[in-house]
Amino acid sequence: MTSAQSAVTPMMAQYLEIKAGYPGALLFYRMGDFYELFFDDAVAAAEALDIALTKRGKHLGDDIPMCGVPVHSAEGYLLTLIRKGFRVAVCEQMESPEEARKRGAKSVVRREVVRLVTPGTLTEESLLEARRHNYLAAFARVRGEGALAWVDISTGSFHVMPLADIRLGPELARLAPSEVILAEGESADLSGIVTESGASSSELGRAAFDSAGGEKRLCDLFKVGTLDAFGTFTRPELGAMGAIVEYLEITQKGNLPLLQAPQREAQTRVMQIDAATRRNLEITHSMSGGKAGSLLGAVDRTVTACGGRLLERRLSSPSRVREIVQERLDSVAFAVEQARLSEALRSALRKVPDLDRALSRLGLDRGGPRDLAAIRNGLAQAEEIAGILRDQDLPSLLAAAAGDLSGHDALLDLLDRALVAEPPLLARDGGFIAPEYDTELDEARKLRDEGRGVIAAMQSEYQELTGIQSLKVKHNNVLGYFVEVTATHADKMLSAPLNETFKHRQTTANQVRFTTVPLSEMETRILNAGGRALEIEKRLYDSLKAAILDESAGVSQVARAMGELDLATALADLARGEDWCRPKVDDSRALEIEAGRHPVVEQALRRDGAPFIANDCHLGGESDIWLLTGPNMAGKSTFLRQNALIALLAQAGSFVPARKAHIGMVSQLFSRVGASDDLARGRSTFMVEMVETAAILNQADEHALVILDEIGRGTATYDGLSIAWATLEHLHGVNGSRALFATHYHELTNLSDKLERVENATVSVKEHDGEVIFLHEVRRGAADRSYGVQVAKLAGLPDAVVERARVVLDALEKGEREGGTAQKALIDDLPLFSATPAPPAPSPAVRTSGVEQRLADILPDELTPREALDLIYELKTLT
Ligand code: ADP
Repeated sequence: MTSAQSAVTPMMAQYLEIKAGYPGALLFYRMGDFYELFFDDAVAAAEALDIALTKRGKHLGDDIPMCGVPVHSAEGYLLTLIRKGFRVAVCEQMESPEEARKRGAKSVVRREVVRLVTPGTLTEESLLEARRHNYLAAFARVRGEGALAWVDISTGSFHVMPLADIRLGPELARLAPSEVILAEGESADLSGIVTESGASSSELGRAAFDSAGGEKRLCDLFKVGTLDAFGTFTRPELGAMGAIVEYLEITQKGNLPLLQAPQREAQTRVMQIDAATRRNLEITHSMSGGKAGSLLGAVDRTVTACGGRLLERRLSSPSRVREIVQERLDSVAFAVEQARLSEALRSALRKVPDLDRALSRLGLDRGGPRDLAAIRNGLAQAEEIAGILRDQDLPSLLAAAAGDLSGHDALLDLLDRALVAEPPLLARDGGFIAPEYDTELDEARKLRDEGRGVIAAMQSEYQELTGIQSLKVKHNNVLGYFVEVTATHADKMLSAPLNETFKHRQTTANQVRFTTVPLSEMETRILNAGGRALEIEKRLYDSLKAAILDESAGVSQVARAMGELDLATALADLARGEDWCRPKVDDSRALEIEAGRHPVVEQALRRDGAPFIANDCHLGGESDIWLLTGPNMAGKSTFLRQNALIALLAQAGSFVPARKAHIGMVSQLFSRVGASDDLARGRSTFMVEMVETAAILNQADEHALVILDEIGRGTATYDGLSIAWATLEHLHGVNGSRALFATHYHELTNLSDKLERVENATVSVKEHDGEVIFLHEVRRGAADRSYGVQVAKLAGLPDAVVERARVVLDALEKGEREGGTAQKALIDDLPLFSATPAPPAPSPAVRTSGVEQRLADILPDELTPREALDLIYELKTLT
């Protein structure tokens, strides 16, 4: 102990010593019914939690800042702190003050950190979203090779895959972990990728990533001599998995969660979808961050937490393996046909509790009697569901699930006999073991209850003895059982002969209280019997828990099976209710969709009572690229996205919102929107757009599906046009991907004459009395004009400005017609794209008219509304 510390109280010395072990975390220091925080921790937590900052004693002459949260409501505060990026070390009292005294310790009880709470290691029900996974991941590198491992300790699932550095971002986008562990020294170049994915990044020493150490840790964890039974792992894979186990040991203080055997995932088996695409398509999260408004939100009809998480997983990682997709579609098709059976299953599934999470809490010793009951109820429901499925001719996936439901009779019977119907939350309160399960317990309870009966009888006995009818026998924590009379009877009670039986204990304003020898004896008997009953229950709790954990692998298999049944019936319910069809999925390059719809937009429109106009899409046959033109608000983005979502849903194993769909397996899905507002990330929007477009052009192959919405919009007209142009040519000539390309550059429509596999399509609008009516119908051919001015009118621009703009537009169009065919000529004259050299940008020389020159110089993003109006006047003078 340093001299500075020697001046401090023993408690503070203990605090400082423990705190020194957790410099990166807030220390929740248990003191009675509170967790207290001191010094800088207190200042930070008081601010983050918006609670009062107080003082307690002095340290080195200064006040010690302090704040605290009550233990019973600590979970909510913990969640706030974790969400705000803190880690919390929870330090508990490991003995009672009496035990400390007996041990001879002067004044401080022994305390220890029992758990380090981090975003990736939460298990509390209240801290987790039931229907989402909470992943903790680790990325390891060994000599240029990488691997990513991830666990959900709240369900025990454990995965690993080889992964190159450059794929880290997209994989994190797919998994959306809460926390990623990196090796010390490597965080510098990787932590940016991690934070960008929304996860918090944590560091471990390099030794934790050592592959040999990792292998040993895994063997110990799974109690096997070699990992061969789980598969063959690369060195980085062993390193990443080992780091996770090490991190769990540190944060859970050796209380390791129940992990399932690690499963290897292969990138080639799932559709590759990068972070930008996930954001744009709003697959599992909408732009505003929640589930509402996302694809997941629109299609989720699952009724169990396990099924909900499975759906999230499937949508995040659609398969690329035909057999897997077919198997999943077969299940949904079966459930669609067997509507009655499927409904019966769904109502049985509704009663299924979250088995995975109950199991995980029991494994981490953070559970209670309700978790035991959840396992019992879950297994009982599983039996019932197995009964519903008996003798059915099930497709393979469902047959396998049905087979996994049964076989836990002994455990179920044990829990059935042992537990009451609705147990209390905490084991220490007792009262969860059913009568007649344990004779010793029954006896202890009988004694306790009889004692209570005897005491009730004593009241009448004493009333008779004293002749005081209002006499009561009561109980409180200070006096235990006592006899109470009103003050008016005090004299009688305090004098002979009654004062021999009744010993005075307390006088309050209106009452006088006494005890008697038989009452105290009875009380001791009740207390002893009650304490004994609690002890027995605690012991039985532990043995029931052990019985469940012995069968944990089987129980989680039951949970998985019910998730699978839930998902198939939920998707069938959706398909029936929304009139979706079974897609044909194969290894071709087709993207043939008849009467397709956007699942999210359709639902939103329905709420407003508006119909959704279905549209066809035909790619992979005569054309690979559709160039879609049409005014703003016509429905271009909706059309683009709906086709991507239909492919994604199909490969996730779902029916799709269309009359008919034929999907050739999509290997990679890309979606980009021009100039989205991404200023928050500190790059100019145009730069973001170009970086993201570059990623596509560098990666997309002929099985990719690319959605480009107004690429090039974020810069001046000619720049934008040339970029859109070159991008289109590259996709056509080099990538050979299937693509839907929406643009407002009408000049591009001429390209379809030159590029064989590009076809024009447009979203039609009707003009009526100078107003535009959106039909939302996609048809082949190019849009004749952009209708920008009409849309401006719809948007509420003042009439005078709209009128003026109309005049300017007429003049411009006239100028274009009379000033020769400058833009048309430009397109015809340019050489076609070849991989090198890049096609030249349109040369300034062709900008013939003064108006065009002036227009080309405009940077719209930099204009104030006032300058824009002046400009319109100026343009007018140039015509
Ligand atoms: P664009 O990309 O052409 O500007 P959007 O795709 O954003 O247009 O569509 C604008 C609005 O039009 C949508 O919010 C939706 O309400 C409506 N809409 C789009 N497509 C359809 C459709 N097929 N049927 C009915 N309404 C549609």
